[in-house]
Amino acid sequence: MTPLKPVNSTDDLAINGAQPLFADPLHVGRPNIGDRPQFLRRTADLLDRRWLSNNGPLVQEFEYKIAAFLGTRHCIAMCNGTIALEIATRALDLKGEVIVPSYTFIATAHALQWQEITPVFADIDPCTHNLDPEAVRRMITPRTTGIIGVHLWGRAAPVAQLKAIANEYGLKLMYDASHGFACSHGGTMLGNFGDCEVFSFHATKFFNTFEGGAVVTNDDSLAEKVRLMRNFGFSGYDKVIYPGTNGKMTEIAAAMGLTNLEAIGDFMAINRRNYEIYREGVAGISGLSLLQYEQSEKNNFQYVVIELGPEFPVSRDDTVQTLHAENILARRYFWPGCHNMQPYQSRYPDAHLALDNTNLVAERVIVLPTGSTLGEQEILAILSVLRALAVGPNGKVTSAS
Ligand SMILES: *Cc1c(COP(=O)(O)O)cnc(C)c1O
Repeated sequence: MTPLKPVNSTDDLAINGAQPLFADPLHVGRPNIGDRPQFLRRTADLLDRRWLSNNGPLVQEFEYKIAAFLGTRHCIAMCNGTIALEIATRALDLKGEVIVPSYTFIATAHALQWQEITPVFADIDPCTHNLDPEAVRRMITPRTTGIIGVHLWGRAAPVAQLKAIANEYGLKLMYDASHGFACSHGGTMLGNFGDCEVFSFHATKFFNTFEGGAVVTNDDSLAEKVRLMRNFGFSGYDKVIYPGTNGKMTEIAAAMGLTNLEAIGDFMAINRRNYEIYREGVAGISGLSLLQYEQSEKNNFQYVVIELGPEFPVSRDDTVQTLHAENILARRYFWPGCHNMQPYQSRYPDAHLALDNTNLVAERVIVLPTGSTLGEQEILAILSVLRALAVGPNGKVTSAS
């Protein structure tokens, strides 16, 4: 998808009447898809077997390989990340209040609310965008039973500090690792922290199974409980020993997962290359900064996150609209924050008072497209739009609204 025009100034922008930079839209979260013949071969096999769900051989192989990849004792594959979160919180016996960030995808909070557990929103560190341990401490009450940290953008939450707080107050600690597949912290793969961790393998995530997710843990008895809950509490034919739901992963999802796992090195290399091009470009544009990843850690580089500083001459929302006009479908994540969505906004109208950094970051962030459908040319073109906005004919663009 080659860019259709040079952008040297704001006069060249589609929002000012020029043709768009791209004929087809560039998306954030375009799915990564591994080797097609391999996937089709696995699909033919599973159809031949007529074993489509209920812990089939592909799901078993998938769980084994994911656990080996992460170095966890257990992987329990699920139909999606949200159900995996719900089952994990049940298995950990969370109730009352659970502390979570507001700066996350809504499912982190909804997985609690769905079970009538109160999500209590704690503020983030404006530099890392992850939970601020001191803010977590401030939100603890006698009703608090646990903490769900989120490894936002694939960067580890402050796991050591959160563990210390959880130990001090006798709280359960789990992680929403939906962004963190194939990422590490201190050389240990995400998935090994807290009592358990939850992944989403949704189509838009770095690693997908169409829809899917998993609970991973190093705790044998917790793993057993999660397994039972995933399958209605069945411990054998005709024998139910636990209340449960249906969180099972299908065979076709596991076929996709196994195929994508084989390609994960390629996905990472492409994302890393793209990230480096963005990094070099953003460094030359004043008022913009690119979220950095720890060089010593493994990362999937799935999220290219820029922040607009107060000195950038165009507002964040006008910048997004300008990009959209060029068919660059950049996104405002995780605006406006869970606490500004329902039912939380109505139930906890004062939550924002403790969330200054969340509000600040949610107003500044833009996530840019990456993945295998983008090459250097496309990224340089995206950067040319941002550069034109930063400079402008007279430091200003026509208002987008
Ligand atoms: C994607 C995502 C989820 C939800 O996962 P699904 O598989 O779509 O249910 C939960 N939390 C975070 C942080 C996510 O990004």
